[in-house]
Amino acid sequence: MRRTALLAAGLVLTAVVVVGVAFRASDARLVERDEFLMGTLIQAKAFGRLAPRALEEVFARLREVEARMTINAPGSELGAVSDNAGKSPVKVSPDTFLVIEKAVHYAALTGGRFDPTIAPLVSLWHIGFPDARVPGSAEITSALERVSYRNVLLDPAKSTVYLTEKGMGLDLGAIAKGFAADEAISIFKKHRLTSALISLGGNVSSLGAKADGKPWRVGIQDPLDTKGAYMATLETTGDTLVTSGAYERFLEVDGKRYHHILDPDTGYPAESDLLSATIVAGASIDADALSTSAFILGRDKALRLVEDLPGTEAILIDKDRVVWVTSGLKKRLQIVDNSYTMAP
Ligand code: ADP
Ligand code: MG
Repeated sequence: MRRTALLAAGLVLTAVVVVGVAFRASDARLVERDEFLMGTLIQAKAFGRLAPRALEEVFARLREVEARMTINAPGSELGAVSDNAGKSPVKVSPDTFLVIEKAVHYAALTGGRFDPTIAPLVSLWHIGFPDARVPGSAEITSALERVSYRNVLLDPAKSTVYLTEKGMGLDLGAIAKGFAADEAISIFKKHRLTSALISLGGNVSSLGAKADGKPWRVGIQDPLDTKGAYMATLETTGDTLVTSGAYERFLEVDGKRYHHILDPDTGYPAESDLLSATIVAGASIDADALSTSAFILGRDKALRLVEDLPGTEAILIDKDRVVWVTSGLKKRLQIVDNSYTMAP
C-alpha cells in the first residue's frame, strides 16, 4: 500500500529508491536534475543558492568521466588502452588511472573474482544488448585466457596503463559509477552546499542531511520486485550505498536467466547464493567495487571481507529472503517488507 502510494507520488529513484524526501515544489532553493548518462538514469537533488551552478558542473563532470571510461563508444581512453594491448603502454588521464588502480586493488583483494580485465568475457556475452547470447564453451575458454588483472601494468610516474597480452581489454562498469558519484559529492562540497543527493542507478550518495535537517532515507531495492520497489530503508547523512544484483541486466534463454555479473573463475554469470549485495561506505568508488565483489563472493566470504574493512558495511540478501548485515548496520537497517527477515 505504502509502496504503491510512493510510486504514484513519483518519489522513486531507479535501483535504489529514496523515500520521504520532503520538499515543496515552490522551494526555490531545491534544484533537481535528471539525465540519462553512463548507461543509467542519474538523478540529483541539491539545496542552496549555488545549487544550480553546482549541478551544472556535476553533470559536465559526469559526461567527462563517461567519455573517458566507457567501453561502448569509440575514442575513449579505455578503448585506447585495450586497442594497444600487447603493443604499448597508453597514457591516460589521472581520473582513468585512479579508477584502474582501484579496480586492480579490489581484484587483488578478492583473489581475482572482481577483475577489470573481464572485458573479453563481457563482450562475448554482451548481456544488456540486443545481440546478447550464450557463448559456446570454446569461446568462453578462449576469452578467459585473456582475463587477468595481473597482466595490467601501471606506471604512476608516467600515468600509463599497459595490458601485456594481445586481445586483453578493460571494463570499468563495476566501479566507474562509484567514482562518478564521489566526484559529484566533491563538486557539491566545493560549492559549499550542505545538502545534496545523487543517484546513479544502484549507487546513491548523500551530502549532509535533507534541507529540513532530517536524514535522507534511502531504500534498498527489492531484488524480486519491479524497479523502484524497496524492501528496507536506511537513514543516512553522508554515506554512499551501492547495490549489485542479478536482476539489473540479464538474458533469458529457454527459461534460464543469465545475468551480467560474470565469474572470472568459470566464465559464466556468478552463481551467487545472494539476490543482491549492498555496500554502505564513505567513498562510492570502494562501495561500487565491493558490491560487485560481494555479490560474486557470496554470503560467507563477503561478510568476512567487509567485516574486516573499516568504515564499510554490507547488506546481503540471500535466496531465502534472509537479510544479512555486518555489525555496524544491525540497528540501522529497517526492513519494511515482511516477506524478508533479518538473519539472527
Ligand atoms: P551495475 O552496472 O548494474 O550497477 P555492477 O556495479 O555490479 O552493476 O557492475 C556490473 C558490470 O561490471 C557488468 O555490466 C560488467 O561491465 C562488469 N563486470 C562483470 N563481471 C565483473 C567482474 N567479475 N569483475 C569486474 N567487473 C565485472
Ligand atoms: Mg559495482
